[in-house]
Amino acid sequence: MTDKTDLRNLTQDEIIRYVESLGQPAFRGRQIMSWLYRPGITQFSEMTDLAKEFRQILSDNARISRFTDPVLECSSDGCVKFGFTLDDGRIIESVLIPEPDRNTLCVSSQVGCAMGCSFCLTATMGFIRNLIPSEIVGQVCAADEFLRSQPEGERIGPERVTNVVVMGMGEPLNNLDNLLKALSILTEQRGLDLTNRRITVSTCGIVPKMRHLGENSDANLAISLHATNDATRSRLMPINDRYPLDMLLAACRDFPMPKRKRIMFEYILFKGINDSDACARELAKKLREIPCKINLIPYNESPGLPYESTPMPRILAFQKILMDANYSVFIRSSRGSDISAACGQLANKEADCQRLPT
Ligand code: SAH
Repeated sequence: MTDKTDLRNLTQDEIIRYVESLGQPAFRGRQIMSWLYRPGITQFSEMTDLAKEFRQILSDNARISRFTDPVLECSSDGCVKFGFTLDDGRIIESVLIPEPDRNTLCVSSQVGCAMGCSFCLTATMGFIRNLIPSEIVGQVCAADEFLRSQPEGERIGPERVTNVVVMGMGEPLNNLDNLLKALSILTEQRGLDLTNRRITVSTCGIVPKMRHLGENSDANLAISLHATNDATRSRLMPINDRYPLDMLLAACRDFPMPKRKRIMFEYILFKGINDSDACARELAKKLREIPCKINLIPYNESPGLPYESTPMPRILAFQKILMDANYSVFIRSSRGSDISAACGQLANKEADCQRLPT
């Protein structure tokens, strides 16, 4: 560990303030920002348009953090699960989902999770700690490095990450300050230059934080809904006791959103629990007047958790009821399950062993 300032943990504005504190003009900060996210740049000595003395000052006082040598697991369907070791020895996971026209990276926002959803494997780890901006953005930088290192013929999609979903370990709205900084670095032109249209933040429904997210970021919002009444939702997701369904849906209605943008509702289908025709009709009724899309998620079973997945014919019948009610409804294809990289399967043994006493 070092007490040098990690510049990859700072937004562009913060880097500008940092260089100003070293007696340099603001534009030097912008220059540094664009170097920091250029492929292959790992040291200040490579920033050739900065004066040599200033590069030396930076080397003495600052550093450029980077995930090196992630543990990789490759799925038969092309998904790659990354395990990154953090400075304190904790491990987080990200999943790369390549398609011919895009590479989606599912990133983690916390080590573990405090939300305790009864169907999710990450919940079994408990909450360990929040990730800082460099640890969120670093997942994308490392996946980009991996893609660039892949031989052309082996790559399924483009040479870099094009889409980011904050749907890995953790509840992003419980780590909102760090998340917003990370989103700023991801979308900043001199940063990773991703468009907000291709970034989605998923929440289990931390109602009081939603407006702040909407006012400070143009990323897409996804809501893990999973039920159409409070009794079922509370059984699946304890957070529902604090922020019940009607409160959550009211926050969705009030969510500051540009016209034509829509909220994504995620709905996992659990056999015999929330997958009946009546549930589909109830869902259609509840979401009326919210500009939205619905993503139906086949449940990925995990040993030890008491839920079963709904068979595909039932999922299709559920989808049809919603489509007949004029919703756009997608069925999320499950990817990466052979390497425990599918939704809800991120929880690694090492981190589990290191769980802090709470
Ligand atoms: N905490 C945030 C971000 C995690 S997103 C949230 O809850 O939205 C992870 C998504 O995968 C959530 O929609 C979650 O409900 C879903 N999920 C969790 N376990 C799953 C499983 N076993 N099968 C399918 N989806 C699961």
